[in-house]
Amino acid sequence: MLRNTRSFPQTACALIALVVLNACPAAARDIHVSTQAEYTEAVKAANPGDTIVLANGEWRDFEILFTGTGKADAPITLTAETKGDVIITGQSNLRLAGKHLVVSGLVFRDGYSPTNAVIQFRRTKGEYAYHSRVTEVVIDHFNNPERYEDDMWVALYGKHNRFDHNHLEGKSNRGVTLAVRMDEEVSRENQHRIDHNYFGPRPILGSNGGETIRIGTSHYSLSDSLTVVENNYFDRCNGEVEIISSKSGGNVFRGNLFFESRGTLTLRHGNNNLIENNVFLGNGVDHTGGIRVINKGQTVRNNYMHGLTGHRFGGGFVVMNGVPNSRINRYHQVDGAVIENNSIIDVDHIELGAGSDEERTATPTNSVFRANLVYNADGSENITVYDDMSGIEFSDNSLNVEVELAVAANGLLYPVDPSLANVGASKDLAVLQRSSTGPSWYPKPGFGDRFDGGTTHAVEAGLDTLVAVVAAAGPGDVVELAAGDYLVTRTIPIDKPLTVRGKGAVRIEFERRALFEIVDGGSLKIDGVTISGASSPDRHGNAAIRTSRYSMLNNFALIIENSVFEDLDTNHSFNALTVAKHTFADRIEISNSKFRNVTGTVLALDVENDDLGIYNAEYITITGSSFDNIGKAVADVYRGGTDESTFGPHIDVSSSTVTSAGKDARNKSGASIRLHGVQATDIADNTFVDSEAILVWETVGEPVTSIRNNVFKGTEEPVIDTSLRPKTNKPDIQEQGSVE
Ligand code: CA
Repeated sequence: MLRNTRSFPQTACALIALVVLNACPAAARDIHVSTQAEYTEAVKAANPGDTIVLANGEWRDFEILFTGTGKADAPITLTAETKGDVIITGQSNLRLAGKHLVVSGLVFRDGYSPTNAVIQFRRTKGEYAYHSRVTEVVIDHFNNPERYEDDMWVALYGKHNRFDHNHLEGKSNRGVTLAVRMDEEVSRENQHRIDHNYFGPRPILGSNGGETIRIGTSHYSLSDSLTVVENNYFDRCNGEVEIISSKSGGNVFRGNLFFESRGTLTLRHGNNNLIENNVFLGNGVDHTGGIRVINKGQTVRNNYMHGLTGHRFGGGFVVMNGVPNSRINRYHQVDGAVIENNSIIDVDHIELGAGSDEERTATPTNSVFRANLVYNADGSENITVYDDMSGIEFSDNSLNVEVELAVAANGLLYPVDPSLANVGASKDLAVLQRSSTGPSWYPKPGFGDRFDGGTTHAVEAGLDTLVAVVAAAGPGDVVELAAGDYLVTRTIPIDKPLTVRGKGAVRIEFERRALFEIVDGGSLKIDGVTISGASSPDRHGNAAIRTSRYSMLNNFALIIENSVFEDLDTNHSFNALTVAKHTFADRIEISNSKFRNVTGTVLALDVENDDLGIYNAEYITITGSSFDNIGKAVADVYRGGTDESTFGPHIDVSSSTVTSAGKDARNKSGASIRLHGVQATDIADNTFVDSEAILVWETVGEPVTSIRNNVFKGTEEPVIDTSLRPKTNKPDIQEQGSVE
């Protein structure tokens, strides 16, 4: 039953009606609904001013179609009985089409959209929303379970729509978090407003398609979008190299705060955009970037950037070279840029003329760079000029000269010297508070390490004693093994972050083809344990640890310290770690550990072999460890394709010894360490004895390969092959494919 509550005071209405005939709306009603059928009826019946109220509780498999024509002063509203207590789960989404519609108070979680988007401002092609608003709505980890199945969480169409005070956290499958679509004329010059949203952590995707906001596409990029993006908080938005990709004209990015987010706000395509009053706080986190300028008529003023470490196209401040007579999807020349009153403090890289090569020869022109403050406390020179910068007029800047800074009332740093009062960002720059974004009633995530915060469970040695304790443990818990021998007769799934720690001499044998299987949501730390393959089956392709054979949405971590892996040799191709396609580690760390008598690969990270720019691990670190009699490679890392939307993989190998590695006839890598398409390699202070060589294929981007202070005995010198590197570094940041 629909329950209607008259909320408009009828006597007041009658009085007004006496004064202005026909101006009084029908009495606005609250229409309470508690089933999907009631909702559908309520939408049909709703008049301007009415509010449809969803009953508190879970609404499963609910594809909400919200259509209607409200009025500017009497919108039709869809809301929750109690904001935050209406949970939309399962196969669900929301479409708005019509005019003057408002949606608020809903939480999307524990499910995903069966279509291209979770929230779309259209019913279908041609039926769009105008003057409509989505506010105080939450989308929390509402991800398609297939990591590389694209969707958008929010797709804005039509004109004059507002998306504000929403909370979007944990998008982990491919596809931009929020897109402004300009495919049809009616969606251009849209004047949408995107404000006061909380864009929560977006984990590293390990592929293109991890942008947080994209406005337009290259195809329509010479049209104006006129979208305003202001006072939004970007908290650890790490999906890929572009946090925001502006691909249209006339947009304004104002007053946003970028906190420890990898990547940049990129003016990728389109002209006459304005970036002002934004704050970028990198806190020294890897690959944190600022602003990248391309195209005509861009203004960048009064922004504050601090502690950004990014380099190349992901630098703290980047002005690109263009391509003469560029195609629409390449790089248009920077022309008429105004870059003024920005503070760029303790930023590692400012890149001018970035991308200069045989193709990108059009240097910036008619541009000014004035009254900016550039200062690094450590005195390092951070400005790199790649080409002729005479098309930029530099004036009134303070560039890397000694400046005394003090913290002002807004918490930011400013020069003490009054003669520099007009250099850098202004003192009244408002720093956006995290708490002023998103709905106040939905908690924002914390900062803890995934392995911390749990309790410790004791396990006695013996047969399968480990199994039940691991199953019962909670996220972050420690399973502490008493000294002795353990035999495990089944593969143990790891579905939460868990530490397995030996207390005394602990030795584990296992009878299945893997001891541990990290499944979605799992991470594993192994500390002070010996794992032996001696009891495992006489079959090829075993692994001490493997990942789920199904796509994993959640990135995992694997930490191995003070441990021994041995006798992984009951048959050939026995790996320490085997990963499956579409699983991704944000870190793998091995320290103070020994690996001996392994017929396969220690870290087999080579299964994304479709050359689509996808890979298996972001940071791989090996230190203080030994590898003895390894049939295949110690690490086999493969990242194929020419796309440049990602920062990794990164690998560090240090202070370790590698003896008799890579000699098995089945070692297709032909190497003791094989790195293909790795972006940052540091192999230092190791000893290689009677092993195959280190083989590095540099394929894409500007990879940095450092191999130093190693000793090679009975081992060929490393081979770094650059023949697969593209001459002109193209294509660069590829167009995120439309998901339609
Ligand atoms: Ca991209």
